[in-house]
Amino acid sequence: MIIRLENVNYIYNPNTPFEKKALDNINLTIDETDFIGLIGHTGSGKSTLVQHLNGLIRPTSGRVLVDGIDTKDTGNLLKVRQKVGLVFQYPEHQLFEETIYKDVAFGPSNLGLSQDEVHERVKTAIELVGLDFEKVKDRSPFELSGGQKRRVAIAGVLAMKPRVLVLDEPTAGLDPKGRDQILGRIKKLYEEKNITIILVSHSMEDIAKLVNRIVVMHRGKIVMDGKTKEVFKQVEKLEEIGLGIPQITNFMRKFKEKGHPVDDTVITVEEAKMELIRFLRSKENA
Ligand code: ADP
Repeated sequence: MIIRLENVNYIYNPNTPFEKKALDNINLTIDETDFIGLIGHTGSGKSTLVQHLNGLIRPTSGRVLVDGIDTKDTGNLLKVRQKVGLVFQYPEHQLFEETIYKDVAFGPSNLGLSQDEVHERVKTAIELVGLDFEKVKDRSPFELSGGQKRRVAIAGVLAMKPRVLVLDEPTAGLDPKGRDQILGRIKKLYEEKNITIILVSHSMEDIAKLVNRIVVMHRGKIVMDGKTKEVFKQVEKLEEIGLGIPQITNFMRKFKEKGHPVDDTVITVEEAKMELIRFLRSKENA
C-alpha cells in the first residue's frame, strides 16, 4: 500500500451559501502495483480526490496517508509532494521558462540537490517522455507542438522522481498522434519504471487499453472499484450513472444478442479480433 484515504470528506466553502460537499466518506487504498483509471462525470469529485493524493488539499474530516505520512502533517508536505506527482489538466499552461531544460529543472532545483543530480534528472525525465534531450534542451517550450509541450510538462513532474504519478485527463485536446504518444509513454512508465499510476479519463477506450483497476465516482462517492474487466461487465450499473463501456465491448454485446456465442466481456479491439477469429474458426469447423 502506498496511499490510503480513510473516511475522507471534503467541503468547499464551508459555512457559506456556496458550501459544497465534494467528497463524501471516501475510503480507498492504492497499492504500488496499481494502474488505476478514475472515471465519473464532470462534477463527481475526481479532481478534488486527486488533489488530496499529494496534499494539495487536505480533508475537511478523515485522513490521507501517503507512504505513512498524514497529509495534515504540514511539516512533511514536501516529502509527500515528492512521492506523488500531480499532472493537472492542460499542464503546458504552467510552462514558463525560456528553455525546456530550465522548465524541467525547476522542481528538482528546489530540492537542494547537487547540480549534477539535477542535470541527470532533467535528462532522464526528458528522455522518459520520448524527447531527444540534446535536440530540445535549449529550445523554448513555446516552439513545440501541443503534444510535445505537454510531454515537457510531464517531464517536469517526473524529474521529481515520484513513486506515484497522477494524471488528470492527460490527452484532453490532443490530436490522435499526440494522444497515442502520451498514452504510450505513460504505459512505459508503469511497466518499466514501476511507477504507480492514477489516470483520470473520459475515454473508456483509453481506460480499457491501459489500466488494471477502475474506480468510479458519482456525486462525491466511490460507487464502483474493481478490476477493469469486472467493472466493464457491470453495464447496467454504469449506464445508471450515465457512463458508458468501450465501444468494442458494446459491439460484442450486440453481436452476442443476435445469437452468436462470443465472449462479450472483451474490452479492447485486439481482444475482440482474437475472439472473432476464434468464433469464425469454430463455425468453419462445425
Ligand atoms: P470532477 O473533477 O469530477 O469534474 P470536481 O472535483 O472538480 O469534479 O468537483 C466536485 C464538486 O465540487 C462539483 O460540484 C464542483 O462544482 C465543486 N467544486 C470543485 N471545485 C470547487 C471550488 N474551487 N469551489 C467550489 N466548489 C468546487
